[in-house]
Amino acid sequence: MIKIGVVGAAGRMGSLICKGVINSPDMKLSGALERAEHPNIGKDVGEILGLGAQGVRIEGNYTDAFKDCSVIIDFSSPEATLTHLAFSAETGKTMVIGTTGFSSEEKAKIESLSKKVPIVMAPNMSVGVNVMFKVAGILAKLLDDSYDIEIIEAHHKHKKDAPSGTAKGIAEEVAKAKGINLKDCARYERYGMIGERPKGEIGIQTIRAGDIVGEHTLMFVGTGERIELSHKATTRENFANGAIKAAKWVADKKPGIYNMKDVLGL
Ligand code: NAD
Repeated sequence: MIKIGVVGAAGRMGSLICKGVINSPDMKLSGALERAEHPNIGKDVGEILGLGAQGVRIEGNYTDAFKDCSVIIDFSSPEATLTHLAFSAETGKTMVIGTTGFSSEEKAKIESLSKKVPIVMAPNMSVGVNVMFKVAGILAKLLDDSYDIEIIEAHHKHKKDAPSGTAKGIAEEVAKAKGINLKDCARYERYGMIGERPKGEIGIQTIRAGDIVGEHTLMFVGTGERIELSHKATTRENFANGAIKAAKWVADKKPGIYNMKDVLGL
C-alpha cells in the first residue's frame, strides 16, 4: 500500500487527486495539505469531497500533514512546491510535481535536489499529451525548415502562468528534434509592424478564457498545406489519473528527475 500526501488538497487538481487516491485499492491517502489560512483546515478531506469521513484532516503545516506518507503529490505554486521538495529531500520522501511556472533558477534548484529524491515532474500529466510530445518530435524531424511552426494554447481565465508548461514542453520537443535552442527561436508575442516572419521561428501563442480545461495545437505550415496536431482536455481527471500513475511508478525508483515519458515507457 503506497501512502500518499497531497498538496493543495482543496484546489482544483488536489481535490481530484485526493478522490483518485481514496478510490485506488493499492494506495492510501495519508496526508492532505492546504495554505495555513485556508477555510477547510481541520476538516476531514473525505467529507469535503462527499466521500464520507476518511480520518484524514486537511492540515496547514507540511510536517504534520506528511509525517506518515512516502510519496507527495504537489499541484500548487512554484514557491510552495520548492518548500515541499526541500522537506522531501530531508526526509527521504518521493515527489510527483505537477506545478507549472518555475523560473530557470527554480528549475535548477529542483535539478539539484533530484540528487537526493526521486521526482516525477511533468508540465502535463495526461497520457494523451505525452504521446503528443513524442509525435511532435517525430513530425519536427520529418518536416524541413520550409514548414513554419506555431503552437497555440488555450486555458481557463484563472490560470496564472503563460504560456502553459505544456506549450513550452511541446516547443522544447520540437526544438530538440530540430537540434536548435528554444531560447534562440521562441516567439511569444506579435504586435504592430513586426515585419516578415523570420525562418526557424517557433511561435507560441496564448488564449485565456472562461472555463477551458486545456487545449494545445501544434501546426507545421508549409506552402499549400498544413499539419495540425491537437489535444483537448475536457476534464481535469486525465491529469489527476496521470499523477496517480506517476506516484505508483516512482514509489520504488532511485533519486533522479523523471518525466511522464519515463512513467509511460514512451
Ligand atoms: P488551484 O489554485 O485550484 O489549486 C492550488 C491549490 O494549492 C490551492 O488550493 C491553494 O490553496 C494551494 N496552495 C497554494 N500554496 C500552498 C501552500 N504553500 N501549501 C499548501 N497548499 C497551497 O490550481 P490548480 O488548477 O489545481 O493548479 C495548480 C498547479 O498545477 C498550477 O501550477 C497548474 O498550472 C498546475 N497544473 C498542472 C497540470 C499537470 O498535468 N502537470 C494540470 C493542471 C494544473
